[in-house]
Amino acid sequence: MPVPHDVSRQQVGETKECPSCAEIIKIKARKCRYCGHVFSDEEIKQSIEEAERLTEAEAKKTYDVVNVSPLPSGTYYEYEHHSELDSLLLEYLYAKNLQSVWDIRTWFAETKGAAILRNVSKQEAESYASKFKSLLEVKVVESGTKDVVFLTEEMIENMRKKQEKKQAERLAEHEREKALKAQEKSCYVATSVYGDQCHGDVVTLRAFRDDYLSKTNLGRRFISWYYTNGSLLANRIAGNEIVKMAVKYVILIPLVFLVRKHLKHSDHL
Ligand SMILES: [Zn+2]
Repeated sequence: MPVPHDVSRQQVGETKECPSCAEIIKIKARKCRYCGHVFSDEEIKQSIEEAERLTEAEAKKTYDVVNVSPLPSGTYYEYEHHSELDSLLLEYLYAKNLQSVWDIRTWFAETKGAAILRNVSKQEAESYASKFKSLLEVKVVESGTKDVVFLTEEMIENMRKKQEKKQAERLAEHEREKALKAQEKSCYVATSVYGDQCHGDVVTLRAFRDDYLSKTNLGRRFISWYYTNGSLLANRIAGNEIVKMAVKYVILIPLVFLVRKHLKHSDHL
């Protein structure tokens, strides 16, 4: 019984079309298994040669693996499989020596038509595509197909610059936070005694440190001593209400008084 042939299953170099019934049969067949057409030696030789030419041409062709269904912008980071996707993309990025450019991974995942792999053999493209299939919807297309978006050196350079800028911003933010923390640390004792780092007296003492102490040698030495011992002192005071009261009324309040007087005179506050 004739079986309708599936053109997609037709393998180049292995089959031929019967000239009398148009069914697809094996390339070396002498007799068509559907209609009984008999091939001459010359016909068989010709079709084998033709198949060899096609196979050669096929071997020269290169293919791209393309992302056809991108993830919506911004979802890449929440994508549950992203670590798997990452490792696959990393393979590629590593090959291109681009492993540090994080944004390229997002670019691949979020760009329709982005060529994830370029100019490889059909076999390589298909093996790569099958790895990607559970993560992203990808397609193998012949190299040179239009609508395929390539990552150019210029685009890579721009991403690199953008990333460097982001890193510099993160570093600056980190430095700011560190400076802020150091500032808070230096008021440990007063904060512990007043129980509030925004208390007027604490603010006055902080201003005294910034506007006066930090400008003299002795003051700077005191600040540096205080940075190392302040928190220890504050922790000891914290558990003892009597010591706390003593520090407050014997040291801090008179100090704040003197500081306010001094700062008023020198027009600092
Ligand atoms: Zn036939």
